[in-house]
Amino acid sequence: MDILHVKNYIDGAWRDSVSGDKKELINPADGSISGTHTNSGREDAAQAINAAKRAFHDDKIWPGMNVEERTDILLKVADLLEKRSDEAARIESINSGKPLREAEADVWDAVHCFRYFAGLAAAPQGGSYQVPDGFGKMRSFSVHEPVGVCGLITPWNFPLLMGVWKIAPALAAGNCIVYKPSSNTPLSAKILFEIFDEAGLPPGTVNMVIGPGESVGQEIAESSDVDMVSFTGSTATGQDISRRAAGNLKKVSLELGGKSPNIIFADADLEGAVEWAMIGIFFNQGEVCSAGSRIIIEASFKDKFVKRLTERAKAMTIGNPLDNPDMGPLITESHMNKVLKYIESGKAEGAKCVCGGYRYTDGECAKGFYVAPTIFDDCSPAMKIVREEIFGPVVTIQTFETEEEAVSIANSTEYGLAGGVFTTDGARALRVVEGIRAGITWINCYNPTFTGAPWGGYKKSGVGRELGAKGFEEYQEVKQINILLNPGPVGWYTDYNL
Ligand code: NAD
Repeated sequence: MDILHVKNYIDGAWRDSVSGDKKELINPADGSISGTHTNSGREDAAQAINAAKRAFHDDKIWPGMNVEERTDILLKVADLLEKRSDEAARIESINSGKPLREAEADVWDAVHCFRYFAGLAAAPQGGSYQVPDGFGKMRSFSVHEPVGVCGLITPWNFPLLMGVWKIAPALAAGNCIVYKPSSNTPLSAKILFEIFDEAGLPPGTVNMVIGPGESVGQEIAESSDVDMVSFTGSTATGQDISRRAAGNLKKVSLELGGKSPNIIFADADLEGAVEWAMIGIFFNQGEVCSAGSRIIIEASFKDKFVKRLTERAKAMTIGNPLDNPDMGPLITESHMNKVLKYIESGKAEGAKCVCGGYRYTDGECAKGFYVAPTIFDDCSPAMKIVREEIFGPVVTIQTFETEEEAVSIANSTEYGLAGGVFTTDGARALRVVEGIRAGITWINCYNPTFTGAPWGGYKKSGVGRELGAKGFEEYQEVKQINILLNPGPVGWYTDYNL
């Protein structure tokens, strides 16, 4: 593959950073150089914010555009992305380490996310309200308007998809955006912004700045010219962004980390529960915010389940993501080392490692950042591997005796993103998911996500929702309009007899 260089896209033009600084992108599969990106600072972010501000407040082309025209442009973006889907998936797989078929699914979802929000742009919004007539004959109704300049900051685990989950609704609602992808994974964003360029979005409507969170991200979070920041990433960064965003009290939407429970009752179908638990924790190398990283299983069922899960995990193929193995490498060497450190802490704290527990170095994998699928049995609540988000292919096993105990263990976390339950008792399944304090739950499955359904967390897993009609509203302000139908003097409060 040619070495790609990713520049910023500001005010309708590709630009290197003001400093001229550049960084290399490392292919996690083998440590080779897969690309370079311009490395931006606060000044570049400020230029992008200014362009978006001018486009929104002065040019007003995108927010003022006829909704059919805006929808057509978003549908064109979807079509162009679909046309380039093979290229986008291949680049995404190389850059992020995810198996090619998973990258293909991400691109497919991204295409349909644009189509979904293009459709929603013209859907009915707002409402009309009955009001008492003490002030005269009045009507009250509400309209939805774009928020303004939206700063969108995303992580590296689903680089294209996490970006599109924000960009598509923000644009459909008529906002102008400044997008900061993770500087680990900007390659698919290059394709996306080439598509925006081709689709004819007015200059300044979409801007992209690539650089570290400590400069570019902080400038976006702090700027009083940014009206909203929508962030996906770790809880610690989300807290920092919230504090910085308080300067102009901008709207804040946060999709953060998780340590999600996967509760399995003894009446569950063994094979089904094992396969879904594998998807829950090993999909995307476990680098998934909603990963079912804590298996909480009825004690009488544990041995049978762990034996089968271990057999299946040991049979997983690991290798170059382009060869479509079950699992690819982790994103960077430093992230791999962080995951390995958690594994060591699990062993030191007395958890029983029944599968994996090491860096995987067979054959060509020795050059990359691979971790074997890892299962820790006999875990207890105080262990670090049970409490903290590892963000890798590591799952812990705890047991319960009663339904109440299962829910209590599930909720003994500061996170509240997701959770699953496996049982053939329908009423119990519903009781349990209603007891889990989390925003996304699954019954007899784990991890499927749908563009039309709201996504987001309770507790330290987030604020607000992405996707669906609810996610669309995040990118809108609501204005109340009250109209007096029989204008004329009513006298100072004289007719005020509500
Ligand atoms: P991260 O918080 O380190 O970085 C995310 C983004 O924020 C990156 O673009 C980064 O450059 C930027 N950033 C870092 N520090 C910043 C700061 N102080 N101000 C502004 N921006 C800053 O997260 P990560 O390591 O890239 O991603 C992994 C995390 O993302 C995990 O915790 C995972 O659970 C979470 N995540 C959540 C969801 C969800 O939907 N809830 C989805 C995917 C990932």
